[in-house]
Amino acid sequence: MKNISEYFGCLVFDDRVMKANLSAKVYQSLRRTIDEGAQLDISVANAVAAAMKDWAAANGATHFTHWFQPLTGITAEKHDSFISPSPDGGVIMEFFGKELIQGEPDASSFPSGGLRATFEARGYTAWDPTSYAFIKGKTLCIPTAFCSYGGEALDKKTPLLRSMEALNKQALRILRLFGNDDVKCVRTSVGPEQEYFLIDKEMYDKRPDLRFTGRTLFGAKPPKGQEMDDHYFGVIKPRVAAYMEELNEELWKLGILAKTEHNEVAPAQHELAPIYSTTNIATDHNQLTMEMMQKVAAKHGLVCLLHEKPFAGVNGSGKHNNWSMVTEAGVNLLSPGETPYENAQFLLFLCAVIKAVDDYQDLLRLSVATAGNDHRLGANEAPPAVVSVFLGDELNAVLEAIENNTPYAGTQKTQMKLGVDVLPKFNRDTTDRNRTSPFAFTGNKFEFRMLGSSNSIACANIMLNSAVAESLKIYADRLERAENFEDALHEMIRKTIKDHKHIIFNGNGYDDTWIKEAVERRGLLNYRTTPDCMPHLLDEKNVKMLTSHGVFSEAELRSRCDIMLENYCKTVVIEANTMVDIAKTEIAPAVGAYTAELAKMITEKKAVDDTLPCNYERGLVKKLSALTDRIAIKTEELENALVELHNAEYIISEANMIRDIVLSKMGELRLACDEAETVTAKKYWPFPTYGDLLFSVR
Ligand code: ADP
Ligand code: MG
Repeated sequence: MKNISEYFGCLVFDDRVMKANLSAKVYQSLRRTIDEGAQLDISVANAVAAAMKDWAAANGATHFTHWFQPLTGITAEKHDSFISPSPDGGVIMEFFGKELIQGEPDASSFPSGGLRATFEARGYTAWDPTSYAFIKGKTLCIPTAFCSYGGEALDKKTPLLRSMEALNKQALRILRLFGNDDVKCVRTSVGPEQEYFLIDKEMYDKRPDLRFTGRTLFGAKPPKGQEMDDHYFGVIKPRVAAYMEELNEELWKLGILAKTEHNEVAPAQHELAPIYSTTNIATDHNQLTMEMMQKVAAKHGLVCLLHEKPFAGVNGSGKHNNWSMVTEAGVNLLSPGETPYENAQFLLFLCAVIKAVDDYQDLLRLSVATAGNDHRLGANEAPPAVVSVFLGDELNAVLEAIENNTPYAGTQKTQMKLGVDVLPKFNRDTTDRNRTSPFAFTGNKFEFRMLGSSNSIACANIMLNSAVAESLKIYADRLERAENFEDALHEMIRKTIKDHKHIIFNGNGYDDTWIKEAVERRGLLNYRTTPDCMPHLLDEKNVKMLTSHGVFSEAELRSRCDIMLENYCKTVVIEANTMVDIAKTEIAPAVGAYTAELAKMITEKKAVDDTLPCNYERGLVKKLSALTDRIAIKTEELENALVELHNAEYIISEANMIRDIVLSKMGELRLACDEAETVTAKKYWPFPTYGDLLFSVR
């Protein structure tokens, strides 16, 4: 294999390719569009399109697509070939600026949550020049935003870009107040750490629950799980290593900075982390990474499971969203500075995040809410559904000293005066020990750990960016009018600490006593499930904040709330139907067949000697027979619960019924089936067990 630096980004129309293939004038004009959002004129667009097409064709592409991220949570593409007929009966390869800039896919089959009723069915895609075009297979993929003809966003990228702009605008106001006049823009950066499971494809194929729902709906606990802690950071097995190697190569070709890989806590669980990049690009790259993970797995006879909870009883998979604010010159605003003035600015940005997380706990929680992620956040797993911020002892002591106007007992033992004193250096080691906090400050960035492994990171970052933009706006409004800047600054930081310290928690977020304290004493929100949190998207304070920054319109928010609840309902209903099907057509017959064999055994033994007691067989037959009856009853109860859903008048009532009834009926059916699994001869069990699934990839 070639040297990485030779092929890194070879499938990307990146800055190097642009420089090499565009005239200086076109290149500069395009750069202005990328860096400053300047309008692109059509002659430039034509030149860029032609260069893209030539480059793509030289790299084997025959088609192009506007690549976008509808509200299904995955990416969408519709391929068009570059060919046009030529008068001599042949074809020529063509690609024009207008095709690059705008596409018109039919929007009617994508979720729009009612926006379609009020707006036209047609949608359009608009080129996002800030994310480079790339080649996938034989197709040139052009990252785009997806909107209705009325201009309402139908995707995740549009509000993400809007939220980045909102944060940029407010952060610049703050920077100006600190005399940073040269900064042109502030962008957020994200490094998403991605967890996943790898299992054998042959075994996967035998499990309809995995095939239809991405998670196991049945499965007794194997004799060994994760209790030995022998998988985390363990030696990577050869098949997995070969997979990771090829995955890295494919990602590097796409210009994705895949950096770290290791085994995770659960057996068969792994993690991949890239080097961080601008949020918009990190989002595109994370979507591509998830796609590649699955594609490459197939080539190795493996299946990559991105579901948040593929297996009961072992850890689920999440995604850690490492987030910071950075100027175009690369200055990290969440990095404590060298001078007192820089420190004050750092503390203000830090406080803006703390305030944002506290004021908009609900938005952060709901930004990661899906049926799959409820199994992590709502259950007995870290992180919990309660949002809190971890700062570490050192930074916490600084904030306390500021709040109380008391001497800071750290390195200097003097009264902390903002703008005068230098803060101690916070190094990672003292701040990164807490792995259970949902929102942890880790030296120079915040790590939002509530995301589910299959979530697009767009949603979490939209809410985070918007909420921080709002804090910064409140600060800037106040500081711009202040008579004495330093006094006002000091007062505002103190006030933020006082008002919002209840969100700061440096202990074990996994502990039950914390949840009790958080809810009862501190009044923090604890929305355990998707139906609990999702309706709060439409709370007045949230609508007001998100619309005032131009991130969403009210109609978009309503539509999104509906779509998320619909997704929740559909997901669980599919799971429930799959369970009913498997219980009836696979599990009950298997248990029945084994019971019959045992019964036959009794008869045959008796034929030899009718005084043989056959206690073992009799006991088991009785037990299995009772279990079969229970399975039948529980299946019927689940079916009835599903029928009841038709009576729900609103999507939220359906979601509540699913949370309260369907999911618990699913749990009861599973319990009966899992118990049957433990007493049924293995050769009768219709599909691979947990032990097979979790420990077979070598
Ligand atoms: P871990 O959290 O597993 O100890 P690291 O902290 O080294 O690992 O990195 C986790 C992720 O955070 C990586 O994707 C890394 O690129 C990203 N990251 C590091 N610094 C920043 C930053 N300033 N802003 C955003 N992401 C960052
Ligand atoms: Mg981390």
